[in-house]
Amino acid sequence: MTKKREFETEAIRNQIPRSDYGEHTSAMYVTSSFVFDDAEDMRASFAEEKEKNIYSRFSNPNNTEFVNKIVAMEGAESGYAFASGMAAIFSTFGALLSSGDHILSARSVFGSTHSLFTKYFPKWNIETTYFNISEADSIESLIQPNTKILYAETPTNPGLEVLDMEFLGKLCKKHGILLVIDNCFATPYLQQPIKFGADLVVHSATKLIDGQGRVLGGVAVGKTDLIREIYLFARNTGPSLSPFNSWILSKSLETLSVRLDRHCENALAVAEFLEDHQQVNAVRYPFLKSHPQYDIAVKQMKKGGNIVAFEVKGGIEGGRSFLNNIKMCSLSANLGDTRTIVTHPASSTHSKLSLEERKIVGITDGLIRVSIGLENISDIVEDLSQALNY
Ligand SMILES: *Cc1c(COP(=O)(O)O)cnc(C)c1O
Repeated sequence: MTKKREFETEAIRNQIPRSDYGEHTSAMYVTSSFVFDDAEDMRASFAEEKEKNIYSRFSNPNNTEFVNKIVAMEGAESGYAFASGMAAIFSTFGALLSSGDHILSARSVFGSTHSLFTKYFPKWNIETTYFNISEADSIESLIQPNTKILYAETPTNPGLEVLDMEFLGKLCKKHGILLVIDNCFATPYLQQPIKFGADLVVHSATKLIDGQGRVLGGVAVGKTDLIREIYLFARNTGPSLSPFNSWILSKSLETLSVRLDRHCENALAVAEFLEDHQQVNAVRYPFLKSHPQYDIAVKQMKKGGNIVAFEVKGGIEGGRSFLNNIKMCSLSANLGDTRTIVTHPASSTHSKLSLEERKIVGITDGLIRVSIGLENISDIVEDLSQALNY
C-alpha cells in the first residue's frame, strides 16, 4: 500500500493533469464553456455518464483543483466552490431546507448569516432558534421535530467562544440532524470538523484560505449525497467561483500551513502581551489558559488561530481612541490577511445591534478584534503598545 499523503503535501501536489505544454504550476482555464467531440460525447456528458466540463457555471478545471485540495485537507468526500463565503452558506441552506424546516444555530454567527436567519429565511417559512453555548445542557431541549440543521462557527466572531464539536456531533447524530460548521476562523489546518461529527463544512475562502486579501471565495465540503444537492442548487442558481479566483485560491493553499504557523505564533505572543497590560481589562484567545473553553480548544484545534479579542479600558470612547492611535495596522472590515487588522465591533460591524444584543454575544463597548498578520511580531506589538499608551 502506498503512504497516504500528508496535509501539506495534498495542499501542493493535489493538482489537475498537466497540459501538453508541461507547465509546473497548473494552467488557468479562463473559459466560459467547453467543446465536445461529437453528438454522442455531448449527450453522454450531459447525461453525466462521463465526467466532463460543460460550462463554467457547473464546473471548471481550476475550481476542481481548488475543491479537491479542500476536500483532502478537511477529510471530506466531496465539495463545491462558490463566489464568496456567503454564497456557500446560502446555497447550503437553500439546497437542503424546505418551507417549514427549522434551523438551530449558535447565537454568535457572522453578521450576514444572522441576516439570512432573521430577514430572509422567515419569508420562506424557515425559522431559526439560537442556542447559547454556555448553556450546553439546554441545547437538546431546543430541538424540534422539524429541526434539520444545527449550525455553528467555532471559534466565533468576534467573541472567540469555542464550541465543543464532538458534543454537537453526538447530539446531532442522536436526533438525525445535520451538523454544519463554518470553519472560517480555524481553516482545515487548525481543525477538521468532520472528524468530530460534522456532516458539512463551509468556508469563506476570502479570509485565511487566500490569506493575502486578494479575492473573494467560498467552499462547502462534506458527504457526497449532500454536496450533490448543493451542487445542483448552485449549478442552477449561479453563485459559482470564477476560474481566476480558484487559481489564486489553489495557489494560496500551497502556503496555508506555513502562513498559519506564523499567524498563530504571532497571535499567541500578542495575546500574552495584552494579558499583562494595565490598559486592558480582559483578553480572549483560544490557546490562553485563561480562556473559558481552553480545554475544548486544545482538544479540537492544533493551534489558537490568528484572531485576538480584548477589551480596552474606557468603553466606546476607549475603543475609538485606540483605533485612532493605531499607526501601522489597518482599520479594515476584513480578517485573515498578511496585514494586521484592528476593528472596534461596537462602533462598526455590530453597531446596529442594541446594547442588550451586543451583550448577549459578548461584544462589550471596549472590545477590540485584532486579526494578527505576518509582519514581524516586534512591529505588531510596538503599534498596539503605543496605541494603548497614548
Ligand atoms: C467573512 C465570513 C463569512 C462570509 O464570507 P464572504 O467571503 O465575505 O462572503 C462567513 N463566515 C465567517 C465566519 C466569516 O468571517
